[in-house]
Amino acid sequence: MLDLAIIGGGPAGLTAGLYATRGGLKNVVMFEMGMPGGQITQSSEIENYPGVFREEPPLTGMELMEPWPKQCMHFGLKHEMSEVKQVSKEGNIFKITLANGEIKEAKSVIVCTGSTPKRAGFKGEDEFFGKGVSTCATCDGFFYKGQEVAVLGGGDTALEEALYLANIAKKVYIIHRRDSFRAAPPTVERAKKKENIEFILNATIKEAYGSVMGLEGLIIEKNDGEIIDLKVPGVFVFVGNNVNNGVLKQADGSFLCDVNENGEVIVNLKMHTSTPGLFAAGDIRIDAPKQVVCAAGDGAIAGMQALDYVGEHFDD
Ligand code: FAD
Ligand code: NAP
Repeated sequence: MLDLAIIGGGPAGLTAGLYATRGGLKNVVMFEMGMPGGQITQSSEIENYPGVFREEPPLTGMELMEPWPKQCMHFGLKHEMSEVKQVSKEGNIFKITLANGEIKEAKSVIVCTGSTPKRAGFKGEDEFFGKGVSTCATCDGFFYKGQEVAVLGGGDTALEEALYLANIAKKVYIIHRRDSFRAAPPTVERAKKKENIEFILNATIKEAYGSVMGLEGLIIEKNDGEIIDLKVPGVFVFVGNNVNNGVLKQADGSFLCDVNENGEVIVNLKMHTSTPGLFAAGDIRIDAPKQVVCAAGDGAIAGMQALDYVGEHFDD
């Protein structure tokens, strides 16, 4: 019987493991289907994690995360490289079903499976991802200071991030496939009033092109057939997010705990879900800022709360 099962080994899961083991929980396993580190390991540059800034060459996500597992394992966290298929609860015991069919039991669980930005599906999107194509303005916007960039999407995220980028970039083009928006009307109005934002509506990106150095431009097609060659070194794709909540789905289609209409796990400030003993941390939770430092903070809270929960509800 595990004291704590952590599902996902990104910044949230690793930090949860650090706090839980260092706080005294003995049998803590982090189930991570790949190498620990999470989605930030895909990023070629990170400069907003406090205390580890390097100007030239910039710190990569891989470099940032490299020491984390070693530190966590030092205090007793175990990593099992397995994909978790489902977390369920019988009485006060959680059942963790792995992809190989094996079932583990745990007194408490922290779900940290993160989220995955949706891809729009245009040609070159994958090829230039991290080299001009981005899904994170807070992370990558600064690299386009004084340059022109494009934003794809018409939801709240696209419009809000375009406004953020407009304070850094010389000009921001918002490319949207319709002429009305999902984003809240006041946000749309703010974007329309911003002098360095230009809308390209009823339009989709057909292709991103460039060289080994990175993105050089976008071929955009309007609904009336007009083709635009937009020479920008950066495009931010905000076409929605998939929260990786599949492990919480039960046989009857319900979720093990409450989630909102976007599938994000509803937690309180202690990372408690609606199911006692089940905690959620990082990108998977409601209102997540989707930043490494925040995911790590969530993980610390969840780890400490799991420690308290096991102490209160189970004898040694
Ligand atoms: P994740 O990092 O997504 O980790 C979740 C982990 O769970 C993954 O390792 C995954 O393999 C594992 N997992 C998922 N499902 C299962 C399962 N069923 N079984 C087992 N394991 C599973 N943030 C910043 O602060 N600064 C930046 O500069 C920055 N740049 C970014 C650049 C890019 C290209 C991307 C994609 C993101 C960037 N971010 C940045 C955002 C940051 O990476 C995330 O906010 C952060 O990683 C979230 O941490 P997490 O632990 O919640 O989830
Ligand atoms: P979203 O609301 O789902 O919007 C996604 C946008 O991307 C839509 O405009 C959609 O176009 C477009 N899109 C989808 N697939 C596309 C594709 N393949 N190619 C081109 N465009 C594509 O996603 P979101 O903006 O990330 O917001 C998610 C949720 O979080 C929403 O409920 C939102 O309100 C909420 N949110 C709230 C706030 C806030 O309250 N301040 C901030 C951010 C997010 P169509 O419109 O044509 O479908």
